[in-house]
Amino acid sequence: MFLSLVVVLVASGCMTRNPPRTSFKVGDVTVHAHVFQRGAFSPVMINVHDDENTSVLAGKVIVKESGGRLVELVHSGRRFVEFKLDGQTYRFDPNRIFSEDGIRATLSRRSYYSEPAHRVVKEFAAGFIAQFALDHEPVIVALHNTDGHGLTINSYRVDGDKSAASATLHASARRSVGDFFYVTDRRFFDYLKARDFNVTLQDDANVPDDGSASVYFARKGIPYLNIEADVSHLDEQTEMVRVAREMIVELGLIPR
Ligand SMILES: [Zn+2]
Repeated sequence: MFLSLVVVLVASGCMTRNPPRTSFKVGDVTVHAHVFQRGAFSPVMINVHDDENTSVLAGKVIVKESGGRLVELVHSGRRFVEFKLDGQTYRFDPNRIFSEDGIRATLSRRSYYSEPAHRVVKEFAAGFIAQFALDHEPVIVALHNTDGHGLTINSYRVDGDKSAASATLHASARRSVGDFFYVTDRRFFDYLKARDFNVTLQDDANVPDDGSASVYFARKGIPYLNIEADVSHLDEQTEMVRVAREMIVELGLIPR
């Protein structure tokens, strides 16, 4: 059984033109998971926001270059997933669904809360994690984009609106504030700071449990990082993904 799996992996070692797809039913809507992979499955990179496509392009460059797996959620091209259940329209942020509190909050904030909707969203979150065995990965890399207005590295400063999530940060004088790493592992912080990237380290003890993947994987003890870059900064983000991969290899989390 294991041997035949290995053969399949080797056989699919080149970039597939028609990537394997997995779909999840969420109420009346289908959320597709597009998978791009080459060689070994690790590191796994996930993209959960369907309007953050620059990050996906950057991730694909590095998968092609060095191997790994990229899982992209695709539904409407928009950030939020919208679905109907029993005649009611619901909406949620797919990066706020990895805890009970997160699901309640994102349904309430983005649309309307009901227990049946909660069950549907919870099943989707659990299915996504199980389908790609994310709980068994040595590290999770999440790919995101910023738009130059909202979230920046400055959001994590003591006077920023995300300060509770940050134990410490490093802001580079030579990088755009919208291009930054959000990490849960002190080794990642030290490495990226030494390279003079914008980086914030999650404060695991005080970060609000908003159902985001960073909190979920921190609680599982799985090193995690977000790579956030301005949507117009493909080259910068590609370099950030490349450096993240080098870092993960150098720290011994995945084989070279
Ligand atoms: Zn995002």
